[in-house]
Amino acid sequence: RLTDDGGATLATPSMSQETEWEDSICYFVKKKLRVWCRPRNDQWELAKIKSTVGDEASVMLLDGSVMTVSTADLLPANPEVLDGVDDLTELGYLNEPSVLHNLQYRYAHDVIYSNAGPLLLAINPFKDVHIYGKDYVTAYRAKILDNPHVYATADTAYNNMMKDGGNQSIIIGGESGSGKTETAKFALQYLASVGGDNCELASKIIHTSCILEAFGNAKTSRNCNSSRFGKLIDIYYNPEGKVSGACIKTLLLEKSRVSQISRGERSFHIFYQMCAGAPPAFKDRLNLKLASEYKFLNQSGCLKLNGHDDAHNFEKLMEAFDIVGIRLEDLEHAFELLSAILWLGNITFTVIDDEEHIEVVADEASRSAAKLMGCKVKDLIAVLSNHETAEPLTLQQAIDKRDTLAKFVYESLFGWLVGEINKSLEGDEKHTQRTISILDTYGFESFQKNSFSQLCINYADERLQQHFIRHLCKLEQEEYEWEGIHWKKVELEDNQECLDLFEKKPMGLISILDEGSNSSKATDVTFTNKIKRHLSSNSCLNIERGTFKVRHYAGEVQYDATGFLEQNSDTLKSDTIQLLSTSRKELLNLFASFSHEQSVGVKFKDQLFRLIQQLENSKAHFIRCIRTNTKQLPGMYEKDIVLEQLRCSRIREIVQILKSRYSIRLTHQEFANRFGCLLSESIICMDPLSTSLAILQQYRVPPHTYQVGYTKLFFREHIDVLENFRQEVL
Ligand code: ATP
Ligand code: MG
Repeated sequence: RLTDDGGATLATPSMSQETEWEDSICYFVKKKLRVWCRPRNDQWELAKIKSTVGDEASVMLLDGSVMTVSTADLLPANPEVLDGVDDLTELGYLNEPSVLHNLQYRYAHDVIYSNAGPLLLAINPFKDVHIYGKDYVTAYRAKILDNPHVYATADTAYNNMMKDGGNQSIIIGGESGSGKTETAKFALQYLASVGGDNCELASKIIHTSCILEAFGNAKTSRNCNSSRFGKLIDIYYNPEGKVSGACIKTLLLEKSRVSQISRGERSFHIFYQMCAGAPPAFKDRLNLKLASEYKFLNQSGCLKLNGHDDAHNFEKLMEAFDIVGIRLEDLEHAFELLSAILWLGNITFTVIDDEEHIEVVADEASRSAAKLMGCKVKDLIAVLSNHETAEPLTLQQAIDKRDTLAKFVYESLFGWLVGEINKSLEGDEKHTQRTISILDTYGFESFQKNSFSQLCINYADERLQQHFIRHLCKLEQEEYEWEGIHWKKVELEDNQECLDLFEKKPMGLISILDEGSNSSKATDVTFTNKIKRHLSSNSCLNIERGTFKVRHYAGEVQYDATGFLEQNSDTLKSDTIQLLSTSRKELLNLFASFSHEQSVGVKFKDQLFRLIQQLENSKAHFIRCIRTNTKQLPGMYEKDIVLEQLRCSRIREIVQILKSRYSIRLTHQEFANRFGCLLSESIICMDPLSTSLAILQQYRVPPHTYQVGYTKLFFREHIDVLENFRQEVL
């Protein structure tokens, strides 16, 4: 964790000034330079020092007021000329108020993107900033514009791929509501159209977002359009750099939302869109009512989305289906099942004895659900009232069995839809593919009540954070050390301890959950006891009665273990599978064959590992999204909220490392081969290291711009002097 007092650093490679800030205060007084001071509690403000006495300083704030502060509450500020620089690594001082000020300065001018070396920071403006669209795509492609922008990042990825042929990935991180999905769509827009030519395919790829959001996004308390699944879109290119196809892979959909929604939140958009926007004939056929008539939708007291018209969005969805090329007759079957899910939720039970055994009420709900699912009412009723053994269910068991069925159908439908989309995006040049992938997942979440979904979401977030830190900085620092070059190491706390909590062998959270879900004796209480027994030595875990807290990199989250085992096991009973496989609806027969044995946690961990593996095999481009307030409002910059995100994702340390990084690296051999032509014949026959040193000396490359490692040479920037001479010689 960063602390404010750790802020007084001059992030130059030598860092020697770090300890001298106290001494240099006099210099700031004499030169009338700006400083940061903390006159009232904890807000940093710009000021100038008028005088100092002992460890107190008299400072004048921007509004002209004069105050006395402790010199411990002073930090150097950058000169005005550096206000709002494009790249944070250009800042002389990298203390927290300076970084925060630079981002705020830009934000106030509607400049939402900034660089931190190769990392792109994107501040969510919560309003239209008019910097997207065809003209901007063209301008960034032609390098008429080259300031920080998601298009510029996408362009770098594309150029990299074209230059060395390697696969690329654009990895978008940030909390829920910070703007990942919007950013991913802009990147997709750029990358789908940059290859030119195939406008139809580009348009198909772009319109998949509308479909995926309708089925996979929902309003949460943090974001009106929150992604409830993770997605990786691979865009394929042929050797000429033209888009040749695409493929979408998804990660764990939060299906619990189908049957259970917290107050003020909504289920997946599609349900409301369909109820509001389906044409009358369609509604008749599906026996579709208003959203307010369905329990699954009306339970949360929130049916509408501010500023959005569900009916209009339904029209847009249908257009998107048309463009992507999903057939209408297939869609009709899908909509039947969506309607069936809603009716399932309305099915009620009467308790018939003292032991809470139930009977299903044979009303419109059960009749409609059965009809839409293509099965007999009595068969559906039998499944919802009895165990597989034909013994009657209790009320809670019946509700759970009904909800499990609804969730299973929805999840399968989502998977099927992604499959259909992929069929229509399939390219025909499989053998020559190079890929750029865009990753947009759910962001870190911490609500008042956090369940199994949040555990999975935050686990995925934790894994991706590790990828981010490793690839942006850790590997780089390790290389410097390994090469033995002079380097002031910046300590970067990584989150391995938290990942161990989940993945430790043989007994991490995921395996304990898995074991519990497979055992008939395990309960939520035995589960909590077991994690206490096996994992209490892990410093990221804190157990208190029925709840446990995990210290994630992005903050501590308290999880409520109730229902964890059930949500993790998630297998359909054999009689339910039988019901689906004998249905007259082909889709349900297909879904019945999807039914699996693996627990959710284990399946998720596998998916995540495969995802990380793919990312490891590509060159990563990172985008970090930041939200400036929790109210989803424009023009509101809450420093504490921004700072918390910068601290969690270690942005300041990362900038510090990147600021003094050696971005160009060549092996001695590569360097000697490339620039050997600048030396006379006699010297070239020396070994590569001696040749390299001779070149550097002869052409007077300033020593502070490079370092010589055991196997490589490291340069801060492009070696223009040598490149120019080389051009002349060739
Ligand atoms: P989650 O993790 O919950 O899925 P997210 O990080 O994907 O969150 P988004 O859904 O992309 O967040 O963004 C939330 C909202 O912020 C959007 O619906 C949009 O209103 C606004 N927003 C985000 N980025 C931009 C942008 N570049 N320009 C304008 N508005 C934006
Ligand atoms: Mg999202």
